[in-house]
Amino acid sequence: MKIDLNDHVALVTGGSRGIGRAICTALAEAGARVLINYRSAKDEAVSLRDEITEAGGEAHLWQADVANFEAVKSMFDFLEADFGRLDILVNNAGIIKDTLLLSMKLDDWERVIDANLKGTFLCTRFGAELMFRQRSGAIINMSSVSAIRSSRGQTNYAASKGGVISFTRACATELASRGIRVNAVLPGFIETDMTQRVMSRAGKQTLERIPAGRFGQPQDIAGLVVFLASRQAEYITGQAIPVDGGLSI
Ligand code: NAP
Repeated sequence: MKIDLNDHVALVTGGSRGIGRAICTALAEAGARVLINYRSAKDEAVSLRDEITEAGGEAHLWQADVANFEAVKSMFDFLEADFGRLDILVNNAGIIKDTLLLSMKLDDWERVIDANLKGTFLCTRFGAELMFRQRSGAIINMSSVSAIRSSRGQTNYAASKGGVISFTRACATELASRGIRVNAVLPGFIETDMTQRVMSRAGKQTLERIPAGRFGQPQDIAGLVVFLASRQAEYITGQAIPVDGGLSI
C-alpha cells in the first residue's frame, strides 16, 4: 500500500520539535506541501524546513501561538491566500504543567487548557471553514493516553486531552457529511522534550508499565497520522486511537 499525498496541503501545529517534527517530515515524504507552525522554536523550525527542502519536499513556516485568536486567524488568512486550500490539519501543539491538584494554580490550569484544547478548537474552527468549501479534508488531533489512563499530577493535562477526544467526536459528527474526517491519536510515552523530566525521574518504573518493553518514538506517531490523513483511511472518522505499546490496555 503506497500512501500518496501529492497535491495535499498540510498544516501541523507545534511542528518544529518532537512529535510534530516527525509528522512534518513524514507528511512531506508522502508528497504533501507542509506549513510548519511554531510558537517559539524558530531555529528548529528553520532547520526542519531546510531538511525537508533538501530532501526534495516542500515546507513553509508560520509563527503563531495557537491559543491566540488573532494569531490563528492570521495564520489561516495566510494559508488561504498562499495555498488556497487545506487538506490535512494536524492539531499537535501542546504543553504540560504537571502538579498535584492542591498545588495547582489557576494559571497552570488555564495555560494547559488554552494551548491544548482552545488551540485545537481555534485551528479546527478556521481549518474546517476551508475544508467545508472543498468538501474534503482530514483533521487529526493529538490527545494522549493520559485522557484514558490517569497519572498523578495531571488533572489539567488529562482534562485538556479528554476534552480533545470529546471535541474530536463532536466535530466528526458535524463534519462527516461534508467529506471531512476528524480523528484523535493518543500517544503513550514518547521520547521527546516533553517527557524528558519524567524519563529521568521515573523512567524505569514507567518502562515496566509498557507491555511492548520500550518507549515510543515520534515516528511511531507520525506513521498513524500519515495513514489517517490518506484516502486509505477515508472510512475512519470520530475515532480515538492509542499508540502506546499497550500502556492503555
Ligand atoms: P514537545 O517536544 O514539548 O513539543 C511541543 C510542541 O508544541 C512544540 O513544537 C511547541 O512549539 C508547540 N507548542 C506548545 N504550545 C504551543 C502554542 N501555544 N502554540 C503553538 N505551538 C505550541 O512535545 P511532544 O512530545 O512533541 O508533544 C506533541 C503533542 O503530543 C502534544 O500535544 C502532547 O501533549 C502530545 N503527547 C505527547 C506525548 C509524549 O509522550 N511525548 C504523549 C501524549 C501526548 P515551540 O517549541 O515553538 O514553542
